[in-house]
Amino acid sequence: MEAETMTQSLKPGKLYIDGLDEDAVSGRTIPIMNPATGQQLTTVPDAGPEDVNRAVKAARRTFEGRVWRKMNVSERERIIWRIGELIERNKEDLGMLESLQNGKTYREALRGDIPPAADIFYYYAGWARKIYGETIPVDGNFLNYTLREPVGVVGMITAWNYPLLLAAWKVAPALAGGCSMVIKPSEMTPLTTMKLAAYCAEAGVPEGVVNVVTGYGPSAGEALARHMDVDKIAFTGSIRTARQLMKASGESNLKRLSLELGGKSPNIIFPDADLERAAKAAFWGIYANKGEVCSAGSRLLVHEKIYEQFVGGLADQARKMKLGNPLDPSVDMGSQISQVQLDRIMGYIDAGRREGARLVCGGERDAEGDKAKGFFVKPTIFADVKPGMKIAQEEIFGPVLAALRFRDSDEAAELANSTIYGLVSSVWTRDIRVAHRLASRIKAGSVWINAYNCFDSASPFGGYKQSGFGREMGPHALESYTQVKSVWVALD
Ligand code: NAD
Repeated sequence: MEAETMTQSLKPGKLYIDGLDEDAVSGRTIPIMNPATGQQLTTVPDAGPEDVNRAVKAARRTFEGRVWRKMNVSERERIIWRIGELIERNKEDLGMLESLQNGKTYREALRGDIPPAADIFYYYAGWARKIYGETIPVDGNFLNYTLREPVGVVGMITAWNYPLLLAAWKVAPALAGGCSMVIKPSEMTPLTTMKLAAYCAEAGVPEGVVNVVTGYGPSAGEALARHMDVDKIAFTGSIRTARQLMKASGESNLKRLSLELGGKSPNIIFPDADLERAAKAAFWGIYANKGEVCSAGSRLLVHEKIYEQFVGGLADQARKMKLGNPLDPSVDMGSQISQVQLDRIMGYIDAGRREGARLVCGGERDAEGDKAKGFFVKPTIFADVKPGMKIAQEEIFGPVLAALRFRDSDEAAELANSTIYGLVSSVWTRDIRVAHRLASRIKAGSVWINAYNCFDSASPFGGYKQSGFGREMGPHALESYTQVKSVWVALD
C-alpha cells in the first residue's frame, strides 16, 4: 500500500480487550504522529487504570479457565506458526506502518523489523510441544517429577524503537509457554502492536488471551505494573522506568520482572582486523535506525596505531549520508522519534563539546527544506573522548558516536567495562587468543567477534549489569514465562 493511501486508511485505533475493540472509559485519545513530517496519522485510546483492569480481568479469566492451555498442543503450535505467516504476508504494510509511526526508513523496517518478528513465531511454535518437566531420582520411596507451568498473566510494556519486534519477542514465548497477556505498547508507536493482536485473533488465539491497552506510561503502564493480578512484567525500555517497575512490583504483589534496558556498547577495533569490514559494521552499528537502537555500538574503541585513520574514514562516510523522507529508497537515515528525543541528543552533543571532545563531523540538526518538519540529526562523531565524559558514559540513543583510544587488550577490556551498562559488545581482530580472552572478560550479554548486530530467534539476547536481566529469544526466554513445580508421590 502506498504511504498516502495507508495514512488515509488509518481509522482511530481501539483498545483490544477480550476480543473486542473498545474506547477508553474516559473517552480520551492520544494523537499518533509521523515524526518525519509532523503529520498526525491517527489517534488511539488513552487507557487509564479502569481499562487496564478490564484487560487484566480478561487475561486472568482465560488463564484460570485454561482456555489457551487446554487446546491441543499441536493446534497451539499451528496457531503460533500462523501468526508468523500473517506477519510475513503483511510485511510491506507493517514495514510502512513502522516507518510512518517511528521515522525509520521503510527499507530498514522491511529488512530489520518485520522478518525477525515473523521468525520468532516460527521459532516458538516448535517450542509449544517441547516444554516439559523431568523425573528426578530422589532419596526415599518417591516418584518425584517436575511440571513446567506458565507463569500466568503477563503485562508487556515496550519501547518505540522496534515496536512490533519488541512485542513479538514477548508474545511468542508467552504463547508457547501458555500465558495470557496484556500488552502496553509505547504511546508513540502502538499501531503495529495493534495489528499483531489482530493477527493473533485471526490465527486462532482465543479471545481474551492477548489484549492490548494503548496509553501513557505513568497511567496505563503504572496501572499494569501495580496490578495485583499480573504475575509478571516483561519490559523493554529505559533504566529510569525499570526502577519504577521494580518499585511497583515491590509495593504490590512481587510480580516477576524481565528487563531489557539500554546500552553503551563498545565496539573494539584492533589493527590486525579486516578494517574494511570493521568500518562498515561500526558505521551501521551506530547509524542504523538513526542510532535509536539499544544495541548501538555507540562507543568505538580503536587501537592508537590506527585511530586517526579509522575514525577519519568513518567520518568521510558519515558526511555522505543522505537524510530525509524515510520512504525514499535513496535515503540512508530517517527522523528521530520526537522533539524530546531530538533535544536530548542535542543536549549530549553540547555536553561533548563542553567537555572537550573533538567534533569530527555532524553535531547539528538537519532542518533543510522539508526536514524542518521532522527531527533529523546529522550523523555525528566525537574523537578524543575520555572515559569519564558524559558522552562516553550515558546512552544517547541517537546518531552520535564517541571514539576512544586504547593501547592494548587490557586497556580495551577495562574501557569496555567502564560504564553501568552491559548489553552487547564487539571485538575485531584476527588473533583468536585476544578475541576469546576479551569475550570472557567483557561484561555484556552478547559478544560479537568480527561482526556486529548478530541476532537469531534461537540465540539469547539480554543485559549484564544495569542493561537488565532475563533474556529474549532462545530457550532462555521461556524460562521467564514458565515456572517449575515439583511433584512428590509417596510410593509406599
Ligand atoms: P521508556 O522507559 O521511557 O518507555 C518504555 C515503555 O515504558 C513505554 O511503553 C512507556 O509508556 C512505559 N512507561 C514509562 N513510564 C512508565 C511507568 N512509570 N510505569 C510503567 N510503564 C512506563 O523507554 P523508551 O524511551 O520508550 O525506550 C528507550 C529505551 O529503551 C532505551 O534506553 C533503550 O536502550 C531501551 N531499549 C532496550 C532494548 C533491549 O532489548 N535491551 C530494546 C529497545 C529499547
